[in-house]
Amino acid sequence: MRTLITEEEVRLTVGRMASEINACYGRRPLTIVGVLTGSIVLLADLIRLLEMPLRVGVVQASSYQGVERGPISLNAEFMPEITGHDVLLIDDIFDTGRTLAEVIACVRELAPAGLRSAVLLRKTGRQEVGMQPDFVGFQIPDEFVVGYGLDYHDEFRNLPYIAALEPADLANQNP
Ligand code: 5GP
Ligand code: MG
Repeated sequence: MRTLITEEEVRLTVGRMASEINACYGRRPLTIVGVLTGSIVLLADLIRLLEMPLRVGVVQASSYQGVERGPISLNAEFMPEITGHDVLLIDDIFDTGRTLAEVIACVRELAPAGLRSAVLLRKTGRQEVGMQPDFVGFQIPDEFVVGYGLDYHDEFRNLPYIAALEPADLANQNP
């Protein structure tokens, strides 16, 4: 495993993202919605730096993985009422972009007043959708990363930095 982004770099960048979000919304009330589970660490750090009146909720997106990836279904049980509210979706990583694009499509049906998105990481050269997140922490190379909320087989979410897995790490795991 190789450190790609240090704890200090993450801290500075989350601070920069918070400043951008504060500048964008000012004192307007905001509903933050984290996409489970990868966003939880970013969500926890980011909300403590935001200055507007804030509500926080989470959604879970699951896709049926058959031969082809199906449409996602959204569990919105833990999302507050968002109709007529400004909503900011938070996710860990924008890879192909399909997850976030589909979550946005589902949330848009609930008629929020405004809808933006923020991700900590965006992978280079992987996107398959027409949209981009409004706030991005880091642009990273196309490598499998863990830490700061991101897992590999449910491990490593608690690392305070971002690391890239190497072939040896992948080989050491029994699926
Ligand atoms: P997308 O729909 O953008 O292709 O995928 C987004 C989801 O795939 C992320 O929310 C995350 O759960 C997972 N994912 C994509 N790339 C990585 C990665 O490098 N590391 C980890 N741990 N998860 C990833
Ligand atoms: Mg995810």
